[in-house]
Amino acid sequence: MIDRFDVIVVGGGHAGAEAAWAAANTGASVALVTLDPSKMGAMPCNPSIGGLAKGQIVREIDALGGLMGLAADATGIMFKMLNTSRGPAVRGPRCQCDKHAYAEVIQSMLYRRDEITVIAGSVESILHTEARVRGVTVRISNGSDDMRTLEAPAVVLTTGTFMRGLMHCGEERTAGGRHGEAASNTMSETLRDLGFVLSRLKTGTPPRLRRSTIDWESLDQQLGDAAPQPFSDLTLEGLNSAATQFPMIEQVECRITSTNAEIHDLIRDNLHLAPMYNGQIDSAGPRYCPSIEDKVVRFEDRHSHHVFLEPESHRDESVYCNGISTSLPAAVQAEIVRRLPGCERAEILRPGYAVEYDMVPPHQIDATCMTKRIAGLFLAGQINGTSGYEEAAGQGVLAGLNASRLARGESPVLLGRDEAFIGVMMDDLVTKTPVEPYRMFTSRAEHRLSLRADNAADRLTPLGRELGLIDDARWDVWTRRHKEMNEINGLIDSTKIEGERLSALVKRPGFSPEDLVESIGGQYRAASLFTALTERQYEGYLVRQRAEVRRHAEMEHRRIPVGLDFSRVVGLRTEAREALTRFQPHTFGQASRLEGVTPSDLSLILLESRRS
Ligand SMILES: Cc1cc2nc3c(=O)[nH]c(=O)nc-3n(C[C@H](O)[C@H](O)[C@H](O)COP(=O)(O)OP(=O)(O)OC[C@H]3O[C@@H](n4cnc5c(N)ncnc54)[C@H](O)[C@@H]3O)c2cc1C
Repeated sequence: MIDRFDVIVVGGGHAGAEAAWAAANTGASVALVTLDPSKMGAMPCNPSIGGLAKGQIVREIDALGGLMGLAADATGIMFKMLNTSRGPAVRGPRCQCDKHAYAEVIQSMLYRRDEITVIAGSVESILHTEARVRGVTVRISNGSDDMRTLEAPAVVLTTGTFMRGLMHCGEERTAGGRHGEAASNTMSETLRDLGFVLSRLKTGTPPRLRRSTIDWESLDQQLGDAAPQPFSDLTLEGLNSAATQFPMIEQVECRITSTNAEIHDLIRDNLHLAPMYNGQIDSAGPRYCPSIEDKVVRFEDRHSHHVFLEPESHRDESVYCNGISTSLPAAVQAEIVRRLPGCERAEILRPGYAVEYDMVPPHQIDATCMTKRIAGLFLAGQINGTSGYEEAAGQGVLAGLNASRLARGESPVLLGRDEAFIGVMMDDLVTKTPVEPYRMFTSRAEHRLSLRADNAADRLTPLGRELGLIDDARWDVWTRRHKEMNEINGLIDSTKIEGERLSALVKRPGFSPEDLVESIGGQYRAASLFTALTERQYEGYLVRQRAEVRRHAEMEHRRIPVGLDFSRVVGLRTEAREALTRFQPHTFGQASRLEGVTPSDLSLILLESRRS
C-alpha cells in the first residue's frame, strides 16, 4: 500500500512534534511516523522546560505558533523566572512539568489535527530518486511486521537518541534509545548508504527516587515564583485550550541536598566501574551537563555539589535528582544516594544511566535543516548533535516549516543570528564542528540584548503570520499587544512629570514597570509595559546594534554560488579550502564564521564568485 503526504516526519519527540505541527499549521498533510505513539512528547531526562537561553527558544517557538510553550503552561508544576536580579536580556523562564501530563497534552494536540496522521512504526529506509527524497518505508508496529511505503517530497528525520542507541549502567549494556524503549538499528546504515558521515555522542541521566522514602521535611525548600508567568502569549490571554486556567495544576516545592567528601571518595574508588572512565564509552558527552563522576574528577578541590530533588509528576512518586547524572553500577548509585543528607532511607525507583547514539555531524545540513546531499531530506533535533528538548523543538519548527514550503515549491526560510536564538543555533550548527552535544547559552548570541524572552512575539510573530504559521486567534493577540505598545510608547514620549520628560526618566536606574504605570495610568498588560520599558532602557545599545547589523547585512546575506569549487579559488590557504569544502557555506556570513577562514580568504571567494 502506498500513501502520499506533503511531509513525512520520522520521530515523535520534541523535534518531531514541532515539525509535524509547524508543517500542519502551513496547511501540509503530514504523516508522523514514530516507534511508539504513546511516548510522543516524552521527557526522558529532567522534565523541565526552558531556563537560561532555552527559555528564549521556547518563547520563540511560541511566537511562531509552536506547541512547547502551550504544553509547558498546561502542565507546569513549578514556574521560575531565572536571573531576575540581572538584566532582562539574560532572564530565562523555566518550569518543571508533570512529565506524564506533558506527554499527554502533546499527544492530544497532535491527534486533534486533521492534517496529521500518526503512524506507529519504524522507518527502515529512505526512498530517493537521484539526489531527491521520495518517501520512506515503514515497518508497522502491530506485531505483523507489515511494510508500508509512504511517499512525500519532503521527509524530516528526528530520531533523537535512538540510532544504534546503547544504554550503560556500570558494566551492564542494553540496546535502546532510552529506558524501556528499543533502538533504531537500520537507520544508521540507511544514512551511511546515502553517503552521510555519522558520528557518536552520549548523554546521561540521574537516578529517580521514591518521594515517600526521602526525609523531605528535613531538607531546605526550593520554591517557584509566587506569581508565575506563562511561556505562551495565548495562555496569558486565556486562549490556550490545554490550560483553561493558569497555573493549570497544583504547584509543588523542590528540596535541596548536597554531595559530600565521603560520596566523592566513594565515586573515586569506583571510577573503574564507570563506563566513561573505563573505556566502555569513548564518545563525547555534554561538558556543561557533567555526570557526578565528571564533576568529582574535574573539580577535585570541591567537596560538595548541590543536588536538587525535583518531583516529576503528581501521578507517581518519582523524584529527579538534579546534579548526580551517572552511569555507575546500580549498587554504587545506591551507596551514593544513602550518603545524601535526607536520602539515607531513599529507595531508587530507577538507576541513572548513560546512552550512546549515532548522529549526523551538521556540516551536512544547511541552516534550514535540509541535507546538502539529498534534496527534501531534513534533519532536526538530537540527530544534529544538539542536546535538550528546547533546542530539538526549535529545529523542529524550522524543519517542518521548510519541509512544507519545499513540498509547495516555495523558497526556503531561515532565521538570522540577529532575529532569533533559533537562528543563532542553526548558524552555529552549520559553521562549527561539534565536539560535544550542542546546548544553547545566552553568551552564544552576540545580539542577546535584542533577542529577549519578553520580545519574542514582536520579533517573530509577524514573520510567522506571513509564512502561514499563525492563526487568527494568535494574530489578534499580537495585534492587541502591538497597539498597546504603541500607546505606551506614545505616552512615554508625550508625558512630562514635574517638568521632566518621561522619556528621560524611564532610563534612570531603578525606574520600574510599577513607576511607569504610576506615570502613564491606563490598564496595560504587565508584559507590554515590561517590554516598552526595557526597549527604552536598552535604547542606546539597541540603536548601535541595529546599525551594526545593517552595516554587515550586505556581506552577511550575499550568496556564494551553489557548487562553487573552492579548490579552483587561486590563493586560498589549505586550511580555509578544507573548511569551505567541508561546510559548503551558502552565504559569505556563514563562510566568515568558519574556523580557519580569514577576511582575505573571503575576498578571494568574492573575486571567484564574480567570475562564475
Ligand atoms: C538518558 C537521556 C539523558 C538525557 N540527558 C539530557 C541532558 O542531560 N541534557 C539535555 O539537554 N538533554 C538530555 N537528554 C536529551 C533530550 O531528551 C533530547 O535532547 C530531546 O529529547 C531530543 O529530542 P528529539 O526530538 O531530537 O529526540 P527524541 O526525544 O529522542 O525523540 C526521538 C523520536 O524518534 C523516534 N524514532 C527514532 N528512530 C525511529 C525510526 N527509525 N522510525 C520511527 N521513529 C523513530 C522515537 O520513537 C522518538 O519518538 C537526554 C536524553 C536521554 C535519553
